[in-house]
Parts: sequence; structure tokens; C-alpha cells
Amino acid sequence: MDFDRIVGHSEIIEHIKNSVKNNRVNHAYIFDGPDGIGKMSLAKAFAKMLNCEKGGTEPCNACISCKTFDEGNNPDVIYVTHKTTVISVDDVRDQIVKNLALKPYKNRYKIFIIPEAHKMNEAAQNAFLKSLEEPPEYGIFILLSENYNNFLVTILSRCIIFKLKALPYDTVAEYLVSEQGIDREQAELYARYSMGNIGRAKELIDSQEFREIRDKAAEITVRLEAADMIGLYDIVDEIKENRKALDSILEIMYMLYRDALVYIKTGDEGRLIQSDKLTEILTVAESSGSAALIKRCEAIEDTRVKLRNNGNAQLLLETLFFKIKEK
Ligand SMILES: [Zn+2]
Repeated sequence: MDFDRIVGHSEIIEHIKNSVKNNRVNHAYIFDGPDGIGKMSLAKAFAKMLNCEKGGTEPCNACISCKTFDEGNNPDVIYVTHKTTVISVDDVRDQIVKNLALKPYKNRYKIFIIPEAHKMNEAAQNAFLKSLEEPPEYGIFILLSENYNNFLVTILSRCIIFKLKALPYDTVAEYLVSEQGIDREQAELYARYSMGNIGRAKELIDSQEFREIRDKAAEITVRLEAADMIGLYDIVDEIKENRKALDSILEIMYMLYRDALVYIKTGDEGRLIQSDKLTEILTVAESSGSAALIKRCEAIEDTRVKLRNNGNAQLLLETLFFKIKEK
């Protein structure tokens, strides 16, 4: 993994490169952000660069350090693992403290990459703190975390913290088209659902569950057009229990209504985000006008916010569906 293969996060990359250029590399870094956002890619590119024998701001890919890094067996880059749900004090002692006492085999730095570092319990953090307080010249720690608030203040104060932000949807879509061979419309869809998270987008592409949720949402959207009172309550019963899926179903319904609206206004299938659901979109477009569709979208957004604030799913869905049925 090299910097030029990383999508986005350019400010962080610049900061890292400058620290090497100016010889101001810190002993400890936290890369913080949700799963899939690119923390490990950054950590790997950083570690590879730090130990490259050429000493530049891009790994040379030719020296022994770069080569062993790519093969996953550079002896001076250690990936700290844990077997249970927490990183324990034993994990820290066995993998970090003991290892840090030994000088690097070959390279300038001995680099510890700690995935899910927010899972260090307090005892583990205290054990780690000793290594962090007086690290040898060659010791570098890269902590990957999904919630840096879990760290003791004493740890935070010794780390440079980078918060990885979601990427613009266009950037993710572009990546999915060029690197994953996904077609443009689908790529935009996944970019939106992943909320600008490439790792998550790649997961969604392979996710059976996501496909099922989309199919369910499309089916419900069509059924709602013709449903009577009983049919309407049936739909509420079918989807109210699984709140996580429910939010996705509502979001997909929103996008189907949006697509129907776009179709009414432009007649252009090329502008549809979910063009693989064209039949469903046309059904909705035929039976509702644009004013009604705009109201539906607003009602869905409103419902999602209330659901996130722990509103009653039964009541909120009933109200939403009544609004949707209002022509
Ligand atoms: Zn190199």
C-alpha cells in the first residue's frame, strides 16, 4: 500500500510527508474514524515510507525493507493482535513492551500498528503508557481507532490525532467505477449508501443482506401504491422490528421516490440512481404526481429522524404511510 493508491485524506498524507521531510516524526499517532474509512491503508503507507531505505516521502518499492513490507514479513513492523473483545494488558506486554526493548533488526524504526486500539482496556492502556512515555528513538506507534474518546488523556496527550473524514460521494463513485469495474449508476448508489466510506461501499457491493433490503424496499414501495388499510398495517408489521434495516428501507424508498420525481420532470432514465429498479420507479411515477412525491420524501426524512431518536416505530410508520397514501 502506497500513498498514491489511497483515495482522499490528502491533508493527512501531506502532514505525514512533511513530518518525514522535516525530520519531525512523532512517536505516536492515532488514526481515528469508522471501519472501512482507510485507517489501515494510511498506516501501512506511513510505516512503509518510514522504513524505506531511501528515506524519501514515497516508498521506493525496490529496497529490502519495501519488499519485505509488501510481502507482509518486514521484521520491524509489528501488527498488534488480540484474541478477545478487548486488547488486554497481556497483549500489550507480550507484543509491545517486550518487543520494544529489542532494537530493530534492520530498519531505522520499529513500528507498532495497533488495529482497534480503542479496545485497549484501562489496564492495557496503563501498561502501554509506560512504552509511550519514554520510547526509544526507534519506537513508533500507530493506533487505529473508531473512538478516540476511549483513550486515557495521558495517552491522547502524547499522540498526534488524525480524524479521517468521509469522502465526497463523487470520489467514492469514481473509485468504484475505475478500480472495481462497477457501472456508474450503481457506483453512485453505493457511494451514497456507504456515506463516503470506500471500505463500506466495497462491503455493500458484496452484501447479500443489502441486496435483500433493497429488494424489500422496492417491493413495499410498489405495494403501498395499491394497498388498502389492512395491507398498510401488514407492511408496518413486516418491517417495524428490525430498526437497522428499517432505516435503510426508508432511505431506499426515499431514493425511489426521488427517482420517480426525476423521471416525471425529465423523462430521462439516465438520471435515475436506482435504474435497476426501473419498473418500480415507473409504477410510482404513474400513480403519483410530483407534489405528492416531494411530500413523501419530506415525510420519510422526518420519520427517519424521529426513529433515530427512539420514536415508536409502529406509530411513526402508520403516520408515514397515511401521509404517503394521501394524494
Ligand atoms: Zn524502499
